[in-house]
Formats: sequence, C-alpha cells, structure tokens
Amino acid sequence: GAAPDWDRVRADFPILSRQVHGKPLVYLDSANSGQKPAAVIDAMDAFYRQHYANVSRAVHTLGTEATEAYEGARATLARFLNVRADELVLCSGTTFALNLVAYSWALPRLQAGDTILVSRMEHHANIVPWQLVAQRTGARVRVAEITPEGTFDPDALRRSMTPDVKLLAITHVSNVLGTVNPVRAICREARSRGIVTVVDGSQAVPHRPVDIAAIGCDFYAFTGHKMCGPTGTGALWARREHLAEMPPFLGGGEMIREVSFEGTVFNDGPQKFEAGTPNIAGFVGLGAAVDYLQGLGMAHVEAREAGLLAHMTQALEAIDGVRILGSAPEKAAVVSFLVEGAHAHDLATLLDLEGVAVRSGQHCAHPLLQFYGVAATCRASAAFYNTHDEIDAFAAALRKVRRLLA
Ligand code: PMP
Repeated sequence: GAAPDWDRVRADFPILSRQVHGKPLVYLDSANSGQKPAAVIDAMDAFYRQHYANVSRAVHTLGTEATEAYEGARATLARFLNVRADELVLCSGTTFALNLVAYSWALPRLQAGDTILVSRMEHHANIVPWQLVAQRTGARVRVAEITPEGTFDPDALRRSMTPDVKLLAITHVSNVLGTVNPVRAICREARSRGIVTVVDGSQAVPHRPVDIAAIGCDFYAFTGHKMCGPTGTGALWARREHLAEMPPFLGGGEMIREVSFEGTVFNDGPQKFEAGTPNIAGFVGLGAAVDYLQGLGMAHVEAREAGLLAHMTQALEAIDGVRILGSAPEKAAVVSFLVEGAHAHDLATLLDLEGVAVRSGQHCAHPLLQFYGVAATCRASAAFYNTHDEIDAFAAALRKVRRLLA
C-alpha cells in the first residue's frame, strides 16, 4: 500500500502533543520504550469495561471472551512474525523470555567444557542470564568481539564458533549503536556447526519487517512496550522440538493438565511456560499494537525511520565536538553520541529543559561502552511518529546546550 500520512499518524499518539518545561515534547527515547497510539489505549480500556475475566478456566461468557481475546493476540503476533502460534510463549518481556531459555533450555544441558558465545553489543538481559547459567553449570561465557564500526567481522565471528560453543546469544539490532546484524547469515553459520542460536529481537520487531522463520534461529525474544504495546508484555518464540524438551520454568495454575500429589501432567505447547494469571489486558493491547503497526506497514515504518536517522546523523555531525558511536552500514534510528567536554547526564538534563527527551548513561550495555572506552553516552532514538522538524528542534537544542556547558 501507499505510505501513511505521517502527520496523521503522529496525531494517533496522545502523549506527543504535551509540553515539557513549557516546550513541545520532542520524544527521542523510543529505544528505551515506545509511546502508545490511542488504538492500543482504547483496546485495553474497552477490554476492561466490556469483556474482562480470567482466561482458560471459566466457561461463562466473559471467560470465553477473555480467552478468545488473549489467544487472539497470540495468533496475531504469530502471523506478524511468521511463526506458529503454538510456538509462541507469552511472557512479560525480553528479560523473562531470555531467562526462560537460560533456565529451561541451557541450565539442564550445559556443563563444564561448554561455551556460551555472547556478543559484545548485548543488552545486560542477554548477558547476565548466561553468566548465571555458567556459574551453575561450569560452562563459560566467551565474547564475540565487534569492530570499531560496531559490526561483526564475519571471518572472526566464524572463527569464534569453535566446537565447544553450544549456544550463541546475539541481538538483532543494537540498542546502543543501532547496528542491524545479519542474523540470518549468522544463525545459518551457527546452526551448521550445531550451535543453538538465541536472538534478541527487542529493537528489531518495532522498527522493521521481521520474519522469524526466515532468520532460522532457535529462539527469538522480544518485548511489547517498545512496539506500541503496554509494559509487561512480550514473547519467546522457540522451535517446537525445544519447547517439547524444556521443563517448565515456573509452576502453578494454567500450565498444567492434571495435578495430584503423585505427580503432575503439564500442558503441551507454550501454556506449559505460562504459569499463573497472565497479563490478559496487556496482550489485548499488544494485539491492538500489532494491528496498528500492520496498518502502517512495517516496510513503510522502516523507510520512514531510515529518513529520520539520516537527518539526525547529518544534524549531529554538523555540530562541533560531537562524536557518534558506531557507523554500521545498516542501522536502526538510534544514535549514541558524546559531546566533547560535557557529561552525558548534564546534556540530557539540559536537553530536557528544552523539551527534548534523550537517554543518558550506559543503556544496560556496560561491556559495549567499555569497548569504546566511554563511561556514558547520550542516546537519541527515533520512531516513525517523530518528525523532521523535531530532529531540527533537537539539533538546535543541542547547540544551545553545548554552548551552556562549554
Ligand atoms: N534487549 C534489548 C536489545 C533491549 O533494548 C532491551 C530493552 N532496553 C531489552 C533487551 C530488555 O527488554 P525488557 O526490559 O522489556 O525485558
């Protein structure tokens, strides 16, 4: 279809019309969390007002409606990402999803002598669970190094896939550098060596068309709040053979078929990993978010954000003393930068007074910042609902702030 009218699209997001410190809000922190269109807020509101009940257990009308809404969201997500609904475990987000792989897949399998290969550019959510597994199994965590551009050298990466490597944990898109990794080629290489692959899709699913089946990984994790959905939602996609072999991570209601004190029979499929009452309204919201994104068209979203990235990069490069981290040829609309002589937190604090929201700090990626030898950065991250005028306003604010701090 034709590209959306982006000014109209922006008007779908109520929060974007507010002011901060008397200035129009310029929200450039979507890599941290995304804003929500009215369609998502309204879907959750309507669900609570009209259809709310618990899922699965009740045969009454509301129970049936709630179950259909929850399972409908699973089906919507599965179609969106080209996977089977019965391979999609709904959970609270990427952090839960990666810990589920760590505790249910890796912990029972890995042992001393095994290696978990983790990329340099991972978010802590894709590092710490592997360190916990390593501590308990005697396996070790090894780093897959990056180039100064913030990419992987394919030969070096291939060489790091030694026979002791049992699992590779890699992000699809870096939350600090914006690098889009060629996960399809990387997973093919890993799988050909018998290495199980875990892809962190947190920063990919909200910003580009993602076809998990085409990537060919073993596990793919993502989080709802960065893709127009509510907090506390996300999912783990896993190959069916893995799900079938994995013991449950949490026990409780919803995940069982039969319980007696002699033993318990678990549900098949993803429900085995969904103990307890889930975030039902949250997944109704996430389903609405997917409908909304599909209405825009992910290819249009990707193109829109590529234009914003080019503008933002150009605008920042034109300012004296600005250094941008990473220069991958394929990037999402994320720019981490430093300004000579200014602390990242001071920059972000003063930018906020101009109405501009950027994140400062280490972005849950200490090892990556250590690689670049920097203590903290500012990160500006755009989404399709941002405008080119906002990029100009951000650049003007940064020039002003830089003069104040110099
Ligand atoms: N991985 C990446 C690449 C991320 O950007 C984030 C969120 N900052 C996470 C994992 C963690 O996501 P969540 O906090 O929603 O579990």
